[in-house]
Order: sequence, then C-alpha cells, then structure tokens
Amino acid sequence: MASQTLNSERLAQARRVVLKIGSTLIVEKKTGSLQRTWLDALCADVAAMRASGQEVVIVSSGAIALGAGQLGIDLTRARLEESQAAASAGQIQLAHAYQEMLDARGITAAQVLLTLDDSENRRRYLNAANTLFTLLKRGAVPVVNENDTIATQEIRYGDNDRLAARVAQMVSADCLILLSDVDGLYTTDPNIDSDAKHIQEVTELSAEHWEMAGGPGSDHGSGGMRTKLDAAQIAMGAGCRMLIASGRVEHPIKILQDGALATWFLPSSNPQTARKQWIAGTLKPRGTITIDDGAKSALISGRSLLPAGVTDVSGQFERGEAVRVKDQSGMELGRGLISYPADEARAIVGRRSGAIVDILGYRGRDELIHRDDLALTSDGSG
Ligand code: GLU
Repeated sequence: MASQTLNSERLAQARRVVLKIGSTLIVEKKTGSLQRTWLDALCADVAAMRASGQEVVIVSSGAIALGAGQLGIDLTRARLEESQAAASAGQIQLAHAYQEMLDARGITAAQVLLTLDDSENRRRYLNAANTLFTLLKRGAVPVVNENDTIATQEIRYGDNDRLAARVAQMVSADCLILLSDVDGLYTTDPNIDSDAKHIQEVTELSAEHWEMAGGPGSDHGSGGMRTKLDAAQIAMGAGCRMLIASGRVEHPIKILQDGALATWFLPSSNPQTARKQWIAGTLKPRGTITIDDGAKSALISGRSLLPAGVTDVSGQFERGEAVRVKDQSGMELGRGLISYPADEARAIVGRRSGAIVDILGYRGRDELIHRDDLALTSDGSG
C-alpha cells in the first residue's frame, strides 16, 4: 500500500495520540530562540486532530535549550544545576507559547511536569494518570515535559522519547508519534552511509533493529535512535503503535497524513488487551475481594465492581494494586486493580457508592474496581 494511504489510515484509526516534539524542532540552534512559526503550524495540526475527535497529549522538549539561550548558558559545558536553571527559565516560555497558540484555536493547554518517580512509583503513577485522564475528558491538551528543574542525575529520564512512551502507556494511547529531525529507522546511519535503507515497518523489535540503532552500549545521547527504540519497546508492550517521523517541515502531522516517510512500530495487540493481559498476569495479587451473585453477573456482562456487591475483603494492599476477585464459592473470576487501599475498601464493603464520601471523608471513585482495570479469567460457569 502506498505510504500515503497507509499513514493516513493508521493515523485516522488512533483515538488517543501522544505527540512528542524534539528540542531541535522547537528551538533555533544558533540563536536559542523559539521557532514560533513552526510551533504555530504544529498547533494548527493539533487543532485539526482535536476537531476530528482525537485526544492529544503533547510531550514537548525544548525547555533546557530555550532557557540556555536566555540565560547565556553554554550547554556543551553546563553543570547539572546550570541545565536545571536553564530548564526553569525555558519551561515557562515553552508553556506560555503552547498556551497562547492553542488558546488561539479555542483549546485549553494544561502543563504537566513529571519525574521518573511519577512513572515508576505506583501511587504517583496513578495520580499522574488520573490527572491526565481528567484533562482529556475536559477537552484540554496536556503539555508534558520532564520536571528538569528538580530531577537530579540519578532520577532523570534525561530524554523525552522514553518519557513520552511512558505517558502513552499511562493514558492507554493507541498512537505515539515521535517528531524529531529523523524520518525513521535506517539499516545504517544515513548520515555516513549512502546505502542506508529506510525501514518502513517493524512488527517485532529484534537484535537487528538495535544493531541498526547503533547496538547496545552505543551512546547516541538524548534524542538518539536508541532512546527511540527504548520508547518503541515500551509503547509496543503497551499495545500502542509508534512512529518515528520528521518534524523538519511546517505542518508535520498534515505532511505525515499526506504520506511522508516514517517508520511504524506495530504491536500485535491494542492498549486495552495489553493492559488486561498485564493485569491478568499479575504474579502476586495482594488481596482477595469476594463478591455476591448480583455483582458477579454484573462483572460478567462487562460492568465495574461497586462496593455494594462485595461481601468480604482480605489482604493488605494499596490503591492501584492487583487483587483477586472471587465469587461466593471461592472460584477466582479474575483480577483487577483496586481503587482503594485495604482499610478503606473494608470500610465501604456492602455500601452504596453514594455513601463513600460520608464513610471515608472524601469523594473517591464510585467503583471499587473499574471495568477498564478488571481482567476476567473465568466466565463464572466454573
Ligand atoms: N526535558 C528536556 C527539555 O525540555 C528535553 C529532553 C530531551 O531532549 O529529550 O529541555
């Protein structure tokens, strides 16, 4: 199939897209200033995606490069605190630019600054994910970056390729677009080898692909091909399609839809299936929730588990951890991620969701386990 039809069809299939923008696209190298015309055209592309019903999360680099220009910091020899200071000055400019350019198109931009901890620590992961979901539900476009100002060397991503993939996983995005100055993966480095061949599609990452990216141990640094393959690995594991495409054009998304060269990474499953497989495969559920027959049939017909249908809670777990769900006979029906810690779950057993606020003193989720967080392993017939 011609790449035009291929790109436009695949892009149109995506409902939730994470768009990662590399520093080199946003910041003019010599002057260190913002590429306003380019960014404005990109925001027009984002507005078109929103208008077609797609949800968009932007992961934007550029804070450090922008701030360095402003503060007169030479990044080739900057110490950590100098890049952090640069990020601090640059991020406010970057956020302002997105706010202004998206607002001009009637879209609310919302800044989200994340650290590695926010994606690796379960509780913080959930908080970040819930904030992003809420923003998307309200029609906003989250603009994410690493919180470079406080992220020290040991706890840094350092590159937004992997951060963007984690964000895509967090929000169950079905497409991640990495826009930078390269239009895909090549068999060898196209800058030095004129025989380098462009790869159009990857359905399974293999040693060969890592070799093409410079092999393990090669240091392409932030924004290199290796971090892009790291991102592909995370995205594919989460059932999210990913593509590496060039942003070195005005209206890069439109150009992509028109058939620009890109490398697609195509996982075999979708985000929902990947997530459920991951939940079902939890090795050590932390607790057991026993439910009544009414709740059992609700679950089997695809609904969420409400506290009212629960008869017993056992085990010690935190919010967001995996638990077993059993019926009255003790048969395991499935596994799910629970919305409340064990003590709170016990306190609301058998109660209506409307009573949660009075019992716990805050308004949590109505569902004890939301259907998106529930993987049934049995149809209940025994
Ligand atoms: N977070 C960094 C910044 O905004 C960029 C990291 C990267 O280039 O991937 O400057």
